[in-house]
Amino acid sequence: MKDDVEFIDEMENKVDSGAEIRLLEAERLLNTTNVQILAETANRIARKFSEDLIDVEMLLNAKSGSCPEDCSFCAQSSFYESKITKYPLLSKKIMVERAQKAKDSGANSFCLVCAYRSPPESDFNYICDIIEYIKKYLEIDVNVSLGFMTKERARHLKMIGVKRYNHNLETSESYFSQICRTHDFSDRVNTARIVKEAGLELCCGGIIGMGETTKQRLELAYSIRDLSPNEVPINILIPKSGTPFENLHGVSPIDAIKTIAVWRFLMPTPIIKIAAGREVYFRDDDNLALKAGANGIIIGGYLTTNGNDPSRDIQMIHDIGINPA
Ligand code: SF4
Repeated sequence: MKDDVEFIDEMENKVDSGAEIRLLEAERLLNTTNVQILAETANRIARKFSEDLIDVEMLLNAKSGSCPEDCSFCAQSSFYESKITKYPLLSKKIMVERAQKAKDSGANSFCLVCAYRSPPESDFNYICDIIEYIKKYLEIDVNVSLGFMTKERARHLKMIGVKRYNHNLETSESYFSQICRTHDFSDRVNTARIVKEAGLELCCGGIIGMGETTKQRLELAYSIRDLSPNEVPINILIPKSGTPFENLHGVSPIDAIKTIAVWRFLMPTPIIKIAAGREVYFRDDDNLALKAGANGIIIGGYLTTNGNDPSRDIQMIHDIGINPA
C-alpha cells in the first residue's frame, strides 16, 4: 500500500488529469497525518487553476433578523432570542455607501445579503433598483443572497447585472433535519439550480462544525460539487448565544485546514472562500487557509460577527505573495 505522501501525490496527478476524486480517496486524504503536505498540494492545485489571484468580497447585511426560518445556527432566526441588532431593509444611501466602501477597501465584489425566506415583492424591487444604481455608478461586481428564488426573479437579477447569487446548502442532506425544520435540503438545492439555469454564477457552500461527522462533511462537499458552483464558501460555526447551537465547539483549526484542502482536491476550479470563523479559529494564522487551497476571503466582517480591519487582510494577501483579483 502506498504511504500517505505517495497517495497525496497520486491524487494530485489525478486532479491534474481532470479525473474526479472518489469518496474513499477523499476519506483517506482527510485521515492523513501529513497535514502540511496535504495543504501544500491543495495550494498547488488552487494556484494551477486560479493563478495567483484571491477573490476578495465585502458583505452587507442589508436586512437583519426576524427571519421566519429556524436554522439552528443562525442568530437572525425569529425562533431564537439572540442579541443581535435587527433592522428592516436599509436605505439606498447606506447600501450605496457600503458598496463604495467595499471598492475603496480593495474588494472586487460587494454582496447584499438579506435575512428572508424570500423577499416581499416591494423589497425585491427596491433591492433591484439599488443594484442597478450601483452597477451604473460604481465599478464593482454585485452579488446577492436573498433566500429562495423563483425562475423569474433569478432571470431578472441576471438581466440587471448581478454576477453571483449565494445560496448555501449549509450541511449534508443526511444531517439537514438536525439543523432546520422549516425547509428541506431539497429546497436549497432547488434554488441553487434555478440560479444556475438563469445564467447567474452560483455561490454555494456550507458551515462546518455543527455536530456533523467528517463523512457528512464530505457528503456536503459532493452535493455542492454536483451543482457546479463558481464559488464555494466554507464557514466554520461561530456559536451564537440564544441559538440551539450556542454550546457547540466548531472544529479544530487542523480539521478546518484539512477540510479546505480536501474540498480543493474535490473541486479544483471554483473559488473556495474561507468565510465566517476565519478570524475566530485561525486568529493571526488565517493566512494558513490561503496556503491550503482557499483562494477567496471575505473582508470587513460577516452578517452578525465583526471581522478584521480590511487593510490588515489585504496586506496579508500581499504578504503571502498573491494578489487580490
Ligand atoms: S440562515 Fe438564512 S434562512 Fe436560516 S434563519 Fe438565518 S437568515 Fe433565515
